[in-house]
Amino acid sequence: MAATIIDGKKISDEIKAELAIKIDKLKKSGITPGLTAILVGNNPASESYVKSKAKACAKIGVYSEVIRRSAEVSQKELEDIVKELNRRHDIDGILVQSPLPTHIDELAITLLIHPEKDVDGFHPYNVGLMLLGRPIFLSCTPYGVMELLRRYNIDPSGREVVIVGRSNIVGKPLGAMLIQKQKMANATVTICHSQTANIKEVCRRADILVAAMGRPQFIKADMIKNGAIVIDVGINRVEDQKEERGYKIVGDVDYEGCFDRASFITPVPGGVGPMTIAMLLTNTVLSATRRANNWRIG
Ligand code: NDP
Repeated sequence: MAATIIDGKKISDEIKAELAIKIDKLKKSGITPGLTAILVGNNPASESYVKSKAKACAKIGVYSEVIRRSAEVSQKELEDIVKELNRRHDIDGILVQSPLPTHIDELAITLLIHPEKDVDGFHPYNVGLMLLGRPIFLSCTPYGVMELLRRYNIDPSGREVVIVGRSNIVGKPLGAMLIQKQKMANATVTICHSQTANIKEVCRRADILVAAMGRPQFIKADMIKNGAIVIDVGINRVEDQKEERGYKIVGDVDYEGCFDRASFITPVPGGVGPMTIAMLLTNTVLSATRRANNWRIG
């Protein structure tokens, strides 16, 4: 039987429409949500992510700006930029686009972002609160996956979830969100990585399988159980001469191969990708709402 397609584009549009209403109200009380992205170097993927974020902001009425620096920027200069953004009252969210050049200490930069403006949810303070089940911000990609499940009424409670990938921005935080003792969580989670033995067998146990590994179409039909819910976080460029740009984007899941075996599946593009931006906007609007209410940590 063919799977139901989890349409991340449609859900992200719904979220943006809901946010636009909230932004209208905020503006009436004199507050415009503001987001600054810091972009270092000229990585084409980073350029394109930052561009899509700026476009999404403009569409729903979030003020956004991009601070660009060359790949030779110093640690000190980046730190000064973050400190200044922490001070600015018109900026509710600060994001530093990855990857940064190797001479930059990325953790030191993240630690400098004020946790109240950490709309990426990467600051260890926010990661810790998320782990404790008391989040200030949830990091955007795992939050997007949770929101997709919620809006498709897929309750992970009591289900076996297997996540392939243990990165700090996807696999680990998603696992932590799914095991929380709360509604639309309560899952039994296994996290796999490159050293996992018998990965195929582990994946076949999953009621919900999340692929977040950055390996094009790694997850094949024989790695999922019949009726599994398959969430593909992967975004991979693979060469394709049929495409004008010479490449196409595929996920970590063999979508065509798994389609008849899964009960639900996310496409790439159009699945988790648009949700990441929608959740970034959600966090920015949340931060602006807190500013309107004079909310502070502690
Ligand atoms: P990382 O490279 O940071 O982590 C990849 C993880 O996958 C690691 O834990 C690695 O294991 C594991 N892995 C790699 N190869 C294998 C393998 N053969 N078997 C089992 N595990 C393996 O990636 P990210 O988490 O940053 O990103 C993952 C994917 O998600 C990428 O395609 C990325 O582009 C995409 N992404 C998409 C986003 C979106 O908005 N949709 C946002 C962020 C990322 P180990 O730890 O042992 O090395």
